[in-house]
Amino acid sequence: MQYRNIKKHIKKNKVPLIIIACLIFNIIILLGYITNFKATTKPLKKIKPLVNYNKHLPVPKVQKTIIKNINPSIISDKTIYLTFDDGPSYLTEKVLDILKEENVPATFFVTARQIDKYSNIVKRMQVENHTVALHTSTHNYSYIYSNDINYFNDLNDIRNKVYNITGIKSRIIRLPGGSSNTVSKRYSNGIITRITNKLTENNFYYFDWNIDSEDASGKLPKEVIYNNVVNRIHNGVNIILMHDSSTKETTVFALQDIIKYAKSNGYTFAKITKSTPQIHHHINN
Ligand SMILES: [Zn+2]
Repeated sequence: MQYRNIKKHIKKNKVPLIIIACLIFNIIILLGYITNFKATTKPLKKIKPLVNYNKHLPVPKVQKTIIKNINPSIISDKTIYLTFDDGPSYLTEKVLDILKEENVPATFFVTARQIDKYSNIVKRMQVENHTVALHTSTHNYSYIYSNDINYFNDLNDIRNKVYNITGIKSRIIRLPGGSSNTVSKRYSNGIITRITNKLTENNFYYFDWNIDSEDASGKLPKEVIYNNVVNRIHNGVNIILMHDSSTKETTVFALQDIIKYAKSNGYTFAKITKSTPQIHHHINN
C-alpha cells in the first residue's frame, strides 16, 4: 500500500491517532534495538580481526599473580611473551612457521615425550631465536610431584636432552600445572613450596603466566582462544599460556590472528630470558 493510499485508508477508516502514534513509537524502539544489537555484536576492539569473531566474549579471569624482578621502565610497555607448553609435537612446526612469517619470538616449555622424534624441531626453535625452556621430562604429576628427588631427576632428564640438542643447559622452567596447582597435594603435601624454593636457591627461574588462553581445557574453538587472549592482554607484561601438544590444532589456527591483533594494537613480542619479569602465581601447596 502506498503512502497516499494509507492516508486515504486512514481517513476512510478513521484509524485513531493513538494507534498511529503507537506504531511510530514501536518503529523507533525497534530501530533503537537493531542499532544497539549491532553495536554489541561488534568486536570489542577497534581493530577488525582477520576472521569475524563475534561470539559471546567470556569474562576475563583474574589471575592472582606476583611479578618478580620487575623493571619499572617496562611497566608501561605492552610486551607479549607467547609461551607454548607440552611440545614438541607435529604441530610445533606449524607454530614455528607462523612465528617466522610474523617475525616474532616465543618461548617453548618442552617435555621429553616426543623430543627424540622432533629433535630437529627443537633445534629449529633455537636457530630461529626462540627460547627453548624446560617443562619436565615425563609431565607425569603422580611421579614428579610425589617427592622432590623425582621432580629434580625428571627436570635433569629434560635439561640434558635439551642440552644434547641445543648445547645450552637451560635454567628457565615452568612447572606442569603452574606453581598454583593443587593436584600436587594428592601426591605430596607442600611439594610446590619446596620445589620453588630449591629452584630459586639454585638460580633457576620459574615462570607462570598472567594470560590464560585456556586451550588446556579441552578442544576450544579457535574463536574462543582468540578472544580469551585479545580481551585479556593489557599494558605491561603479558605472559600468555598456550600449548603446542598434538591435540591443540585450534591454538595454531588462532595464533596468527592473535599476533596480528596484538601488532595492530601496539604490542611488541619478546622471548623469556633470565631477566624477564617473573610472573609467579600464588602457591597453594
Ligand atoms: Zn604442561
